[in-house]
Amino acid sequence: MATYLELPAGGRMPILGLGTWQSLQGAARDAVKFAIDAGYRHLDCAYMYQNESEIGDALRQKMEEGVVRREELFVVSKLWSTFHERSLVKEACQKTLAALQLDYLDLYLMHCPMGFKAMEELVDVGMVKAIGVSNFNHKQINQLLGKPGLRHKPANNQIESHPYLPQEELIKFCQSKGISVTAYCPLGAPNWPGSKPDHISLLDDPQIKEIALKHNKTPAQVLIRLQIQRNVSVIPKSVTPQRIEENFKVFDFELTGEEMETLLGFKKRYRICALSQCKNHKDYPFLED
Ligand code: NDP
Repeated sequence: MATYLELPAGGRMPILGLGTWQSLQGAARDAVKFAIDAGYRHLDCAYMYQNESEIGDALRQKMEEGVVRREELFVVSKLWSTFHERSLVKEACQKTLAALQLDYLDLYLMHCPMGFKAMEELVDVGMVKAIGVSNFNHKQINQLLGKPGLRHKPANNQIESHPYLPQEELIKFCQSKGISVTAYCPLGAPNWPGSKPDHISLLDDPQIKEIALKHNKTPAQVLIRLQIQRNVSVIPKSVTPQRIEENFKVFDFELTGEEMETLLGFKKRYRICALSQCKNHKDYPFLED
């Protein structure tokens, strides 16, 4: 089983990465250092998470210690929605690079699809290796691909996905267009800051627990493995050393076809990150739900 996804314009993205949203100040630095020691090479960051400078300290330290070289890392960040104006894009990327103490990003995503402006120039000047999008629906991907003069196709669409939101159609569509997909909230974001109904707990779901038991794995490992087996990159977040390790031990077992069907066939549907504060925006991406 490949542990990398090939990107359309070249380059490889490690299929499993560390999420860093809500890795609070003080915790993000140690989590990233621990994760690199545990073998993680893909880090999912964002300006909006307000912890990029800590992550930068951790990356610098691990490179100085000789644990990892820059070219072995795959660092992702995201352009926040207040910087979509063409004149602000480069400065926003520069801020992120300075905080992360890096010369370039491997992938820069547009965090939300509101008010798209191309980030292609950042690729041209070498500040980022590839650009992509996040939270784009099928129609928005099509619109973007149809833009006259598009020079750099999005390399990735980062979307919420887990058994209560399998996103099979959108994933197949992106993959058919050569756009890799990354699944966020893969564990169902158990400590989501907003309210979530009690029955939305993937880690406590009896069917998921049963599959985990059969493989002598945890529900979290099953949820991560599910994405890997459909060639979707996956970025579980943790600041807990034992969980960071646990979440990386997913390359030594395989879910059966039947188990995959069970995991992708739940009737229960729930979108955790509904961006409800943007519901009235003309580019709100989740109206079809
Ligand atoms: P996840 O599904 O990754 O869940 C993270 C939570 O699960 C944390 O509270 C963590 O706790 C806990 N956890 C981690 N591992 C385990 C385990 N093995 N057993 C039990 N609990 C565990 O949700 P996220 O929302 O964090 O999504 C992952 C990443 O995706 C984010 O961190 C971010 O990088 C990205 N993201 C992107 C979005 C976008 O709009 N593009 C939106 C949302 C997320 P603890 O840390 O205390 O161990």
